[in-house]
Amino acid sequence: MQYFSTRNKNMTKKPSEAILQGIADDGGLYMPESFENITFPMEKLTEMTPKQISETVLSLLFGRDDMFKEEGSLEKAVSLAYDGKFDGEDYAPLSRVGDAFVCELYHGPTCAFKDVALQLLPRLLAEAKKVNDVKEKIVILTATSGDTGSAALSGFSDVDGVGIIVFYPKDGVSAVQERQMTSCRGKNTCVCAIEGNFDDAQSGVKSIFATMEVPESVRLSSANSINIGRLAPQVAYYFKSYGDLLKAGEIAMGDLLNFVVPTGNFGDILAGYFAMQMGLPVGKLICASNRNSVLYDFFETGTYDRNRDFHVTKSPSMDILISSNLERLLAMACGTEACAAYMKELKETGKYSLKKEELAAIREVFDAGYADDKATFETINRIYREYGYLMDTHTAVAWHVYEKTLAKDKNKTVVLSTASAYKFASSVMTALEASYADDFDALEKLYALTGVQIPSALDGIREKEIVHHNTVAKDDMAEFVMNFIGKDAV
Ligand SMILES: *Cc1c(COP(=O)(O)O)cnc(C)c1O
Repeated sequence: MQYFSTRNKNMTKKPSEAILQGIADDGGLYMPESFENITFPMEKLTEMTPKQISETVLSLLFGRDDMFKEEGSLEKAVSLAYDGKFDGEDYAPLSRVGDAFVCELYHGPTCAFKDVALQLLPRLLAEAKKVNDVKEKIVILTATSGDTGSAALSGFSDVDGVGIIVFYPKDGVSAVQERQMTSCRGKNTCVCAIEGNFDDAQSGVKSIFATMEVPESVRLSSANSINIGRLAPQVAYYFKSYGDLLKAGEIAMGDLLNFVVPTGNFGDILAGYFAMQMGLPVGKLICASNRNSVLYDFFETGTYDRNRDFHVTKSPSMDILISSNLERLLAMACGTEACAAYMKELKETGKYSLKKEELAAIREVFDAGYADDKATFETINRIYREYGYLMDTHTAVAWHVYEKTLAKDKNKTVVLSTASAYKFASSVMTALEASYADDFDALEKLYALTGVQIPSALDGIREKEIVHHNTVAKDDMAEFVMNFIGKDAV
């Protein structure tokens, strides 16, 4: 298997090189060259454990002639990532809620779905380093709207030969998210607030990748979902959901299954599209946005236009105006040449428009909707009262969109739940019309109110000592990175 850049079909790399590099030299993202020969063995799905599903997906996406050639090495990597890290054996348990199913992706060490990928990414990087005989220290640069940061820090903390720098928007994350990051004690970790929003942080990181001259002893890489090593592990839970529903007799083999995905950078939902390309019977993939509804407008009109106000919402991990992974969908739907042209337009004018037939092809699978904070809170409240099921704000956005688009669909639907309600406890408390003093108090009061177990990772978070105190202007990010590298590499 080879990977190519979304902006140039001829710019190819081995999977391990794509993982090491994160982003292609021309600024594009890496894509598997073909899905034709990587069909998932659906007939074995119900016999597989969650880890075996993950192993199968990874060996299909990356092949076995580059990474994981050694017998048992893939199984070992997956075990290192998942054993004992999640509450229970399963990284993606399903719950029935009303007529739909919720795939709970938040039982990992930082209580958001990003753990599923970010516990595995360090293992993929270690393997990629090994097969390419890379001796340099790898520095992971990451921009986060909240959840990537803590999940990446948890995954990479004290991993040999790797350093990690996380940038987050100062006023764009919850106090709990901020404390999860700033209390990280890994010796190789560095956390820094940006005076700006998530897009500023992400653009800053992208420009550092494009322009920074780093010392020879260092290589920069990314833990954002622009890295294919971050995307690949997410494909597994789409298959797993299908397998669980087969086992429960809710669907029969071949039945189409819908997924509703709370979306920001478009990584999670794109993994669903990858699963479909690998043979999963998918009906619709529904992209759910909050008030930053740039993706909703794109799917409605074919025009992507980031020239609009940025809103800080109660589902902050989806407060994004440039959804990087959409580029991968464009490369598949329109080809790399058109994709490169659209990305150039986006950079220069902040927008681009697809041709009618390109949009029509995409709309055969994708649909979209959005929920503002009011609808989000209403949903949390109503679903808790009706079903006793507690959901966080991101999941509630998706649930609202499910009700708007699919409630009457003949196919069954899985709504992806991307964070624990406790990670956004203040918002959930407000939605439930209950009072609290601050973010940390909200956690305890939410438990007192609902009796739903607090995840161990968040229990006692208020007492965790802050060890990272950095804040920089967005224009000073590069200098900050240089200082970290300088300090660290010599
Ligand atoms: C990151 C995140 C999302 C968005 O996922 P993308 O892959 O960026 O689309 C949604 N919900 C939560 C809780 C997240 O942390």
